[in-house]
Amino acid sequence: MTEPIIEITIIDDLQNGAAYFSPLQNIPDYPCHVNFIGVENEDPLEKLKAAIATGPVPDIVLIDHVLDKTSGASGALLQRGGSLVPIMREHWTKCPILAITAEPSDCRKDVGSDNYEEVFDRQYLDVLARFIPSVVAGYRKATNIKTYDDLLKSIDVPETEKVAFFRALPDSLKIEDLYGSPRFVHDLYRWFREVFYEKAGFLYDAKWVALTMGVAESHFYDYAEQISSCVYNGIWADPSSSRWWKANLYSKIRSKCDNPNLSIQKAACRVFGIKDAVFSKCYSCEEIWPDTLAYMDESALSSERKAMHLHCSEPHPRRQGLPYYEEERVMLEATE
Ligand SMILES: [Zn+2]
Repeated sequence: MTEPIIEITIIDDLQNGAAYFSPLQNIPDYPCHVNFIGVENEDPLEKLKAAIATGPVPDIVLIDHVLDKTSGASGALLQRGGSLVPIMREHWTKCPILAITAEPSDCRKDVGSDNYEEVFDRQYLDVLARFIPSVVAGYRKATNIKTYDDLLKSIDVPETEKVAFFRALPDSLKIEDLYGSPRFVHDLYRWFREVFYEKAGFLYDAKWVALTMGVAESHFYDYAEQISSCVYNGIWADPSSSRWWKANLYSKIRSKCDNPNLSIQKAACRVFGIKDAVFSKCYSCEEIWPDTLAYMDESALSSERKAMHLHCSEPHPRRQGLPYYEEERVMLEATE
């Protein structure tokens, strides 16, 4: 089956933008066409209006978040890509709009940044390129969600998780009358990417799966094939950053282990044939089989989390977690 061509519109005030975005021309298995709208020393609003009038209707828009090298009336006024989003939405109603920026993540929350579906880091353009087909296909699918049952199907929620999933869903996404509307699709995408896919809860990333299986993170992929049936394959699955259904992982381990009294790690190591030499170890006490992830200290929230035991860590004192999602934790201070 031939995949449809993905029409990508890019708006940027970058010089040589067309060359810069060439990785997007080579998305594996998906033919695409890039319409680059350069707005360096140009009026971005005028250029956008011209693109809306005469250009192709995009399947996805990538826009530079900081447009400070533009000119003209709107260039002087806007300065931020997010300000152009409302006019795009009027004309391109079924199209995800993603921002790209080199700004550090704590500087991205400003004028219009809530208008985008998501803000991506410029330096990971190749990662974004691999995710684009899933963003586009998922967006099309989401505009066709008309009932709660459609929503469950598109996320492929396991039977055992349906009650919890409904409870954990934000109220704004429970109003069926709004399903399929542009506002619903936007809110669904943001919640999906910021909470459901991002935070360990219903879905686990490789770090959490490795913890559950009792295997060191560096050896996780030696055993990942054995749990391929637990991989999340629903809407907006990201091939650069896989997730696994926690419930399916647990039930797979428990159903294959004849002793229900074993810890989950012990059971998993038996079931998957994981050897002592590659057991996971706690970053704090260095004993085997840590059971959570924790930051090294309270201030290092953006830093990488390490595998630790629950008793080697404590809940973060200022971060309140979400029900159904794993707690934010920090390492306990070492005591003499
Ligand atoms: Zn420990």
